[in-house]
Amino acid sequence: MSDLEPNQPEAEVDSEDRFPKYPSSSSLEPINISALAQYAYCPRRCALILLEQDWNDNEYTLRGTRAHETVDVPEGLTREGVQVERALPLWSERLGLIGKGDVVEFVDNIPYPVEYKVGNRWAKLSDEVQLCAQAMCLEEMFGVPVPEGALFYKTTQRRRVIDLTPELRAETLMIIRAVRQLMSQDKLPAPVADNRCPNCSLLNSCMPEVPQALQKLLTLGLEGDT
Ligand code: SF4
Repeated sequence: MSDLEPNQPEAEVDSEDRFPKYPSSSSLEPINISALAQYAYCPRRCALILLEQDWNDNEYTLRGTRAHETVDVPEGLTREGVQVERALPLWSERLGLIGKGDVVEFVDNIPYPVEYKVGNRWAKLSDEVQLCAQAMCLEEMFGVPVPEGALFYKTTQRRRVIDLTPELRAETLMIIRAVRQLMSQDKLPAPVADNRCPNCSLLNSCMPEVPQALQKLLTLGLEGDT
């Protein structure tokens, strides 16, 4: 697989109804794969989005949106002999997941997910978890192992190949369970209140310093009572 994103498409092919659909009989409420990435970044951010439908854009989210502009329209084509699907709907009935693959390449009928990102080439856990969940969906949809995928960084126009190791899969499964647990409660997790917060678009609504300040006041009050 090339490190550089290949050039222009060679030929378009019809992409309608060629892929399996999410079974409507599934008993699990589906979780969007993007929620896993949010949880991996910060559980409280995931809860604010899922439980309180809170959302704000900032410089980073807007850059992320722009990075996806070229892959947000469903399209199938063949490029250098590789079948390439853009904005491919993904699902797993077993895991209760739904989502969308920015790009999925099919080499010898083995799907290869490629997730578009902004920024540098250093993969963050949240990006890797998102890619891994996409791969697990593809494995269920097509009944074949998906051993690796890639993060494609728009800024550098380069790929970072991600080996979908047992450890990454276990981490992804743990996060799926944690998000499902989050969806069944009405309590926000404690803020991480660290260097993630200044870059978080929900900083103003989260107010990460407030719970700590209250906790400190409470502790001081209890100490004063003794
Ligand atoms: S401001 Fe910090 S604690 Fe709050 S949601 Fe964002 S990253 Fe999480």
